[in-house]
Amino acid sequence: MDKLPVVVIGAGPQGLASAAHLRERGLRPLVLERGAGAGAAVAEWGHVRLFSAWPELVDPASVRLLESTGWEAPTTGYPTGQQWVERYLAPLAQALGQHVRFGVEVVGVSRAGRDRLVSSGRADQPFTVHLRDGAGVESRIAARAVIDASGTWGRPGPAGADGLPAIGERSARQISYRIPDHREPGVHAGKHTVVLGSGASAFNALHELTRIAAHSPGTRITWAIRRAVRDDTFGGGGADELPERGALGLRARAAVESGAVGLVTGFRTARVRTMGDQVVLVGEDGAELGPADAVVALTGFRPDLSFLAEVRLDLDPTLEAPRSIAADIDPNLHSCGSVRATGAADLAQPEPDLYLVGMKSYGRAPTFLALTGYEQVRSVAAALAGDHEAAARVELVLPDTGVCGGAGTFDEPEAADGGCCAPATPISISRRTVNLL
Ligand SMILES: Cc1cc2nc3c(=O)[nH]c(=O)nc-3n(C[C@H](O)[C@H](O)[C@H](O)COP(=O)(O)OP(=O)(O)OC[C@H]3O[C@@H](n4cnc5c(N)ncnc54)[C@H](O)[C@@H]3O)c2cc1C
Repeated sequence: MDKLPVVVIGAGPQGLASAAHLRERGLRPLVLERGAGAGAAVAEWGHVRLFSAWPELVDPASVRLLESTGWEAPTTGYPTGQQWVERYLAPLAQALGQHVRFGVEVVGVSRAGRDRLVSSGRADQPFTVHLRDGAGVESRIAARAVIDASGTWGRPGPAGADGLPAIGERSARQISYRIPDHREPGVHAGKHTVVLGSGASAFNALHELTRIAAHSPGTRITWAIRRAVRDDTFGGGGADELPERGALGLRARAAVESGAVGLVTGFRTARVRTMGDQVVLVGEDGAELGPADAVVALTGFRPDLSFLAEVRLDLDPTLEAPRSIAADIDPNLHSCGSVRATGAADLAQPEPDLYLVGMKSYGRAPTFLALTGYEQVRSVAAALAGDHEAAARVELVLPDTGVCGGAGTFDEPEAADGGCCAPATPISISRRTVNLL
């Protein structure tokens, strides 16, 4: 077993950081990435500027490895996704050399000779990791442990308010699930775009679209959210300990108040009706929104658990995150604005030596930070190396979101049992509302 690699799934920020920590611990990492380069998912939102500053986006063990190659850590400013890749993730993958393989997708993880049903001798068997390369060629390798850092970017949520694609959504080519780029105004310039969703990605989309509108007369932007406007709709604002995260929501609020963005509240998409080149969104109450030339659905992400079907997991039924961290990050329950750091003990699964880390460890919860993941992978590498004291140590206090009362998921305030502050309450803002059809 000791001669086998620790397989890390995904060469995003967390997979590469895992490899750097494992290497420092004298373990042999093998990072398997389906994309063509480091940070393949980040590169897909490369035009978006991060709300975290450089020092919050680099992992300490990775910095130590990179500095041994003469690399200098960027110390100030807020990179775009593309800059995160170019100035940090790509050099890190290069420094890890043969420990990273690109163009291979992990399609299954199991135990050698044992499906999920078989308990006998299970922990003594190596993992088998099934792979498929770009040409469709299948292979498998043995691993002593598996760290799943595959993120959630590949599975965006649908426009449908019940979590399933709305009727007509699958065939509506006007709907996309990515943040628009103001440098590619194409389908948005001089047209009507509807943005669905209420998190940081939706705020970013509104920002990009208002930049397009500034140069393209006739551009219309409508933002539809499922709930009423409450004091947490726009995030923590000035109370957010990450100022640029707070600023995202404040910018969205200003765009609504200036009339640059029309806001529709209480809209829950049930159906997408195509009318020539445009679509009309039909709400669950029959209200109609549109016609729109483009719809941008930014309703969160889900973890892909399909390739973990043959290993034993203990995930929270709501979030699909490791059960012991779910209560801290569940928007239905969480009411303090701060999230505690998590380590190996929180992330461990019934399947020994299997860990879910990074964005994937938060399942459907929207509040993951790179800092959280770097602390997770430090702890997991220590646990795999048998250093249980270091694995149990917590070396991070996370910044407060400034959103008191929990993000919540519906209009009715959730019971605030044990909460540290009162639930969010409805507010009125001066805004130009949009007439529904
Ligand atoms: C628009 C946006 C802005 C964000 N801004 C911030 C910010 O300012 N500050 C902050 O702290 N966090 C931010 N985050 C959150 C988080 O830090 C990032 O999403 C980060 O990229 C998560 O890292 P990760 O390594 O867990 O996952 P990812 O970056 O998604 O990497 C996962 C990798 O795994 C690969 N992969 C997936 N499935 C497989 C498979 N089956 N086989 C092989 N490879 C696979 C993917 O191709 C990808 O390269 C932001 C997220 C988004 C989407």
